[in-house]
Amino acid sequence: MKIQAEISAISRLRIAVDGDGLTTLVAFMSCPLRCRYCLNPQTLDPDGPQKVYTPEELYTEVRKDELYYLATGGGVTFGGGEPLLRPDFIRAFRSLCGPDWKLNAETSLNVPEENVRAMMPVIDHWFIDIKDMNPDIYRDYTGRDNVRVRDNLRLLADAGLASRCTLRIPHIPGYNEDTDRDKSVKELEAMGFKVFDRFEYNTRTGSKKRENK
Ligand code: SF4
Repeated sequence: MKIQAEISAISRLRIAVDGDGLTTLVAFMSCPLRCRYCLNPQTLDPDGPQKVYTPEELYTEVRKDELYYLATGGGVTFGGGEPLLRPDFIRAFRSLCGPDWKLNAETSLNVPEENVRAMMPVIDHWFIDIKDMNPDIYRDYTGRDNVRVRDNLRLLADAGLASRCTLRIPHIPGYNEDTDRDKSVKELEAMGFKVFDRFEYNTRTGSKKRENK
């Protein structure tokens, strides 16, 4: 079967935003969650702007920046939407770009375990937006439970990949407080994760403000 995916946007020449070095952000359409303050609502709208790519077409499009990737230790960050809904596409892309590009994933991890397993050999760095580890806060904010998130976090930690993960810990106005975030960090530290990105959702602009790294 032909591998292809709907892509909402390709953003080039990003520096130190979503991964080391210079990166290109590739935003896939579609996501299993419905976060109240979704940062990329255009990826949830089936009628929103999008273009269908095969892995070969995407590779042709982004390799114009290959020299920058290799010189800076950068590469491609797959986001969305939820990139882990597209494991076959990303695996095919890795086989095209080879081992020297850095491939990152920005994910909620709220996907089937087999999708995460399929990505483990091809993703260099994982940016995981956990929302909040408290199941009630998570369900209120996203409309889904976080059972898969917890299981997939354990899967990554047990596979020795915690050092290749950055855990995003947002303050979500109206849903969680600093005490909730501290509890999330404590629980994640107990699993073996060490790198946390605390930030504030701006509910007015749908953007985020970095607090620390
Ligand atoms: S996980 Fe991301 S893309 Fe999906 S609904 Fe939440 S903010 Fe939007």
